[in-house]
Amino acid sequence: TRTPVNVTVTGAAGQIGYALLFRIASGHLLGADTPVRLRLLEIPQAVKAAEGTAMELDDCAFPLLAGIDITDDAKTAFDGVNVALLVGARPRSKGMERGDLLSANGGIFKPQGEAINAGAADDVRVLVVGNPANTNALIAQQHAPDVPAERFTAMTRLDHNRALAQLSKKLDVSVTDIKKLTIWGNHSATQYPDLFHAEVNGTTAAAAVNDQEWLEGTFIPTVAKRGAAIIEARGLSSAASAANAALDHVHTWVNGTPEGDWTSAAVVSDGSYGVPEGLISSFPVTAKGGRYEIVQGLEIDDFSRARIDASVAELVEERDAVKALGLI
Ligand code: NDP
Repeated sequence: TRTPVNVTVTGAAGQIGYALLFRIASGHLLGADTPVRLRLLEIPQAVKAAEGTAMELDDCAFPLLAGIDITDDAKTAFDGVNVALLVGARPRSKGMERGDLLSANGGIFKPQGEAINAGAADDVRVLVVGNPANTNALIAQQHAPDVPAERFTAMTRLDHNRALAQLSKKLDVSVTDIKKLTIWGNHSATQYPDLFHAEVNGTTAAAAVNDQEWLEGTFIPTVAKRGAAIIEARGLSSAASAANAALDHVHTWVNGTPEGDWTSAAVVSDGSYGVPEGLISSFPVTAKGGRYEIVQGLEIDDFSRARIDASVAELVEERDAVKALGLI
C-alpha cells in the first residue's frame, strides 16, 4: 500500500472544515488509491469541537483515512505536511477597520508560514481559503523563504465554478461545454470573471452571449456577489461549495488540466499581464506535472484591462498595508 499523504486543515472545526474533511477522507482530494493522514489545526477554544468532528470521521470508517491528529500548535500541524489547506482566518467583524483585519490575519498566517518553512515536506502545496485569501497567502509565503514561492496559492476556484454555473444557465449548455473561463485578480468584489477568452462549443463565450448589458450588469456582479446572496438565502455563508472548490483546486494542481482547457487560481505573479511580480493574483492557469503555470500570450482588450487593473490595484493596496504593518 502507498504511504499516506499528510493533509493539514486549519480552522478544521469551522463550517468549511466540516464540509471538507469528510470528502478528503473519502478520497476526493487525491484520489481513491491515496491514503491520507489528517492534521487538524484549531485555536485552543475550538479544539474540542475539532475532536467531535474527528469522532465522526472515525465513525465513517473510511478505508483511506490513516489517522487524525488534532493540535493548536502550528509547528506540530505542519510537520511533514504535503498538502496544507489554510481555511481558518479572522473574519471581519462589525466596526473592524481594514488594518485591524489585516493585522489579525497577519498574526495567523505569519506563524503558519514560518511553521511550513520549518517543517513541511519537500513537495508541500499550500492553498489559502481564509479571507482575505490572496493577501493571507502572500503573508504566509513571505515567511517561508525556503519553500518555492509557486507552492503558495489562494482560492478563486469557487468564483470560477460560480461563473461556469451562471454562464451554463444563460446559454443553456452544460458546464462541460465551457472552456477557458478565467477569474482575474483578487478573491473579492473586484474580481473579474472573463468571458472574452472563454469558449462555448468552439465560439467565444462573450460572442455566444452577445449581450454586453447582461455581461456587465448581471453576470459580473452575480459572480462577484454570490457569497452575499448565499448568506442572504441560507442564513449562513457558503461552505459546501467553498469546500468543493478547494478539492477541485488541489485535485487539478496534482492531476493537471485537460488538453485545450485551463482553470483559475491565485498564484505568485511573474509579472505576466502587468500584474506586479510577487503578488498572489488570480490568472488563467494550466496544471502540468504537478505545477500551476500562468497561460501566456492572451490579448487583453480595454474592457478587460480596466477590470484586471482595478482588482490588481486592490491587491497592491493590501500588500502595501501589510508591509506598513510590518507583516511582510
Ligand atoms: P468558515 O469555515 O465558514 O470560513 C473559513 C474562512 O474561509 C473564512 O475566512 C471565510 O472568509 C473563508 N472563505 C473563503 N471563501 C469562502 C466562501 N465562498 N464562503 C464562505 N467562506 C469563505 O468559517 P467558520 O467561522 O465556520 O470557521 C472558521 C474556523 O477557523 C473556526 O473554527 C475558528 O476557530 C478557526 N480558526 C482557526 C485558526 C487556526 O487554525 N490557527 C485561526 C483562526 C480561526 P469570510 O470571513 O470572508 O467569510
